[in-house]
Amino acid sequence: MYNFPMLIPVHDEMTLEALGSRFSPSALEIILAANRKQDSLRNQIGHDEIHFDNNAIDAGNRYIVEQRGHVIASLLSPGVISAWIAFGRLTHTAQDFYSHTNYVTLWLDQFKGAQPAPPEIDPVQKSLIQSPSLHSGKIHFPLDALYFVPFLRNFALSLLPDTSHGKMNLDSHEQGEKFAYARAAAVKRTVYEFELLQKLLTPEMFAKFTDL
Ligand SMILES: [Zn+2]
Repeated sequence: MYNFPMLIPVHDEMTLEALGSRFSPSALEIILAANRKQDSLRNQIGHDEIHFDNNAIDAGNRYIVEQRGHVIASLLSPGVISAWIAFGRLTHTAQDFYSHTNYVTLWLDQFKGAQPAPPEIDPVQKSLIQSPSLHSGKIHFPLDALYFVPFLRNFALSLLPDTSHGKMNLDSHEQGEKFAYARAAAVKRTVYEFELLQKLLTPEMFAKFTDL
């Protein structure tokens, strides 16, 4: 049902842009694989929190905090691979926040007239992250599944409500100008999550984490 193979390059691209110089190649490889695995069929069904689907805003935020906790706990034990896996999972969910919720729309709505360029977006504006207007796309079966079949996409979109995953998601250039904002926010958020861990970890744990 829900495998989004076309999204994989976007997540890889964004993660590399944010973290490419911040980890060793072997660490990056594991982080990218864990990020990508979040879109496997097993992690799609019944896991709205991983993708901020179906209005799972609080659950998505909790999932990120949980994975951050796993990173720290893993670095306190001998291995390091499980820290990279947890961070890869975290980056996927943090990135999906911008493509699956209306955060970008809420951010843009603050500006009357000239809109700032995509790189100006603040990915963690508190008033928006806590806004009661923040919501994410509802998945409607089977129409949202048809959305991923290219020649059925327009048919599915014509029937889907505005609050659907299909109408709301911003995960490729086809979704128009808001995609650039969602992508820029996702890259900045990935850097933000890295820097947050840098503050939380001891220098020794941080060196082990980046493996540089
Ligand atoms: Zn996802």
